[in-house]
Amino acid sequence: MNPSNYLKIKNQIPSNVNILAVSKGFKSQEIKTIQNIGQNDFGESKFQEAFEKQLILKDLKQIKWHFIGRIQSNKIRKIVQNFKYIHSVDSFEKLQKISSISYEEKKNPFIMLQVKLSDDPSKGGFKPELLISKWREIQELKNITLKGLMTINPRGLSSKENSELFKKCRSLADSLQLPDCSMGMSGDWEEAIDSGSTWLRLGSLLFGDRS
Ligand SMILES: *Cc1c(COP(=O)(O)O)cnc(C)c1O
Repeated sequence: MNPSNYLKIKNQIPSNVNILAVSKGFKSQEIKTIQNIGQNDFGESKFQEAFEKQLILKDLKQIKWHFIGRIQSNKIRKIVQNFKYIHSVDSFEKLQKISSISYEEKKNPFIMLQVKLSDDPSKGGFKPELLISKWREIQELKNITLKGLMTINPRGLSSKENSELFKKCRSLADSLQLPDCSMGMSGDWEEAIDSGSTWLRLGSLLFGDRS
């Protein structure tokens, strides 16, 4: 973790765009270093790994934890208990389960719905048509706050192709009147900003290569 790297990126991005520091694969000490220079949002993709760091860092009350990994149904309660944001909600069934567990736990997580904008079989998410047809039902779910959409582009796209997919995500979010788009990673964050991202999920760009 190189603090000057972080500050350089931070100074480059518009003020309406947030950085989510993706700390999966990195140690709690590295989270502390970057937290110390003003970063408070951290993203993790595996519950157990995240929970260990959350225990170590529990005195840093300003930290907001974001879950960005594939959601296993049997982990939903733990995710709801320990994360303020969930970016990777990829089906209506999981969203319903998050809602009912949040009600039981008296929580109200911020939700980004993951959308599937390309055919990449390794990426899940709501197809846009499904999201639109379910939208009324989705809006009626209790104890969740719908914040936006999330997307992960396939690897190896050109800059133009990345931008096109990001713009699709942005216009779908706009049509549903959702303020946020969680899109853009270390390799495509500049296109994501130009396309209307509000949350960049940056791992290796901030922390260096994962070992
Ligand atoms: C790992 C991960 C990131 C960050 O990836 P980098 O290429 O290291 O920036 C962003 N989003 C998700 C969903 C991830 O799993």
